[in-house]
Amino acid sequence: MPSRKFADGEVVMGRWPGSVLYYEVQVTSYDDVAHLYTVKYKDGTELALKESDIRSQSSFKHRKSQSSSSSPSRRSSSRSRSRSRSPGRPGKGRRRSASQSREHKDDKKKTIQETSLALAVLVFFKLSENNTKRYNGEPESTEKNDTSCIILEQKLKPDLEVKRVLEQYSLRSRKDDKKTEEIFSEKKTFLAIKPIEKVPSKTKELEFGGRIGTFMMIFLLPATVFYLLLMCKQDDPSLLNFPPLPALESLWEWRVFGVFLLWFFLQAVFYLLPIGKVVEGLPLSNGKKLQYRINGLYAFILTAAVIGALLYFQFELHYLYDHFMQFAVSAAAFSLALSIYLYVRSLKAPEEELAPGGNSGYFIYDFFTGHELNPRIGSFDLKYFCELRPGLIGWVVINLAMLLAEMKIHNLSMPSLSMILVNSFQFLYVVDALWNEEAILTTMDITHDGFGFMLAFGDLVWVPFVYSLQAFYLVGHPTTVTWPMAAVITVLNCVGYYIFRSANSQKNNFRRNPADPKLANLKFIPTATGKGLLVTGWWGFVRHPNYLGDIIMALAWSLPCGFNHILPYFYVIYFICLLVHREARDEHHCKQKYGLAWERYCQRVPYRIFPYIY
Ligand code: NDP
Repeated sequence: MPSRKFADGEVVMGRWPGSVLYYEVQVTSYDDVAHLYTVKYKDGTELALKESDIRSQSSFKHRKSQSSSSSPSRRSSSRSRSRSRSPGRPGKGRRRSASQSREHKDDKKKTIQETSLALAVLVFFKLSENNTKRYNGEPESTEKNDTSCIILEQKLKPDLEVKRVLEQYSLRSRKDDKKTEEIFSEKKTFLAIKPIEKVPSKTKELEFGGRIGTFMMIFLLPATVFYLLLMCKQDDPSLLNFPPLPALESLWEWRVFGVFLLWFFLQAVFYLLPIGKVVEGLPLSNGKKLQYRINGLYAFILTAAVIGALLYFQFELHYLYDHFMQFAVSAAAFSLALSIYLYVRSLKAPEEELAPGGNSGYFIYDFFTGHELNPRIGSFDLKYFCELRPGLIGWVVINLAMLLAEMKIHNLSMPSLSMILVNSFQFLYVVDALWNEEAILTTMDITHDGFGFMLAFGDLVWVPFVYSLQAFYLVGHPTTVTWPMAAVITVLNCVGYYIFRSANSQKNNFRRNPADPKLANLKFIPTATGKGLLVTGWWGFVRHPNYLGDIIMALAWSLPCGFNHILPYFYVIYFICLLVHREARDEHHCKQKYGLAWERYCQRVPYRIFPYIY
């Protein structure tokens, strides 16, 4: 492996991204993994540059004296002149006086600012190329006010340059981000160069109550699942009627664990089938994009065929109901083992592959939140697989088992209306998630959270065993729903679903292709990252319209269980807490990502989830 050429502290000449201009910079550090030097320009800008974009000062001066035409510095200054077109500039080749050289220095500084501004403008033009309208509540004079930038932008060939600059260079924040924003806001633009960090830094702000909070959650989450399942089995599941603890040996059965493993690996086989398209995820911090196979719906259809075959051959699906607690224990044990494996392997993962939110250096915290962002065995993405397959499809199978158990236990020729409603609503939700599988690639779970205990337990235990609580409850607590009531609940679910789906699709389509003609009527606030923030449509209604839709649906899933007990409402209560907390986390990340633009968005869209309430 070639060793680094330039030492820390060395003063060298660094190329400015997107140009052929070289400026004096100081090397501040070197990243062995990414092979990038972090250099500091005189104006405080810090960039990560490749070695090929750095030259020693001596070679630079040497070349300059040899041939003026081939000198990069000459070339750069002549370019800077032609770009910034100052009428008072001295002609080429003249010897500079002291004041001229000062002026030259000023020109250089100005060129740096103009170049950086030009890059920002390029990003802006990239955004403006699409049909989507910019938020017209903001000044629109960005490009009109600075013709020199437009000239520069044209010379740099926007498409190629933006792509190249963003992909090849790691633009670190200026010494003072605020200062940068001021520079740009003086020029009446909201764009700044967004830091694209190659190497994620340590997680400084701990969530979920930090180390103590995450430690407690590792015990609290499984305890909650078992409490809910035990309560649901009781004739009187009132909150104060605490269930007796079962004998420990009754919680474990190897056969049940075997069935769980069979289920998990069957889903893994379906995931590996070379059917369905392969898509790219969002760019990672190192600029790379991972590939994902979209075949969740096929897996669901194949699972349906397997379950159909089992039923045809008289397999008693209510085995699941009879051993429900043992299945939950098996899934919990498996998810714990998986989390330990994930943490151990994450210790060997390169720094750049660690999760932005799970790299605190504290064992418990990183174990819980997930240390590695996208753990993969070959092309098998463990997090992506667990997010939508074994747990989510398992939820539908559990619901079906509950429906059959209800018919068997109560000797019914057809399931109750309540059970049909719960099954249908949740079936729709799962099929929708699988139908829109690609949309998960832009969610926080995939882009921000690592894969650790939180998601492993959430995906494999919490989702299938807690989300099916209403169906489980209905088996032991038959509830009659009138047809008019059923109609009202169905309308509620449809309204929730419509908001949820259209909001998610709007954002997902906008993120994937802002130039989508279907989004032409939407307005957005441009941000420093080059991404926009929608301020009309669903995302102009509240800041998390998808959560609103989800919560409305959650209520519709609980209502068929009547009003005798609060237990079946656990889901909607928990879900509101989850989404309020998730929303706060997301707000925090967005504020960090988008700064002022996010604040403007919040001013424009004041409510977070519930219009006029919250
Ligand atoms: P979201 O899909 O809500 O995504 C949030 C991200 O959207 C932000 O980080 C930001 O990311 C982007 N964004 C925010 N505001 C705007 C805007 N105005 N314009 C454009 N982009 C914007 O995140 P979640 O992953 O939390 O939720 C996804 C879905 O999953 C939701 O429907 C939620 O209800 C559901 N969900 C369901 C759960 C369940 O257990 N059933 C649990 C959790 C979520 P960026 O700018 O980087 O693109």
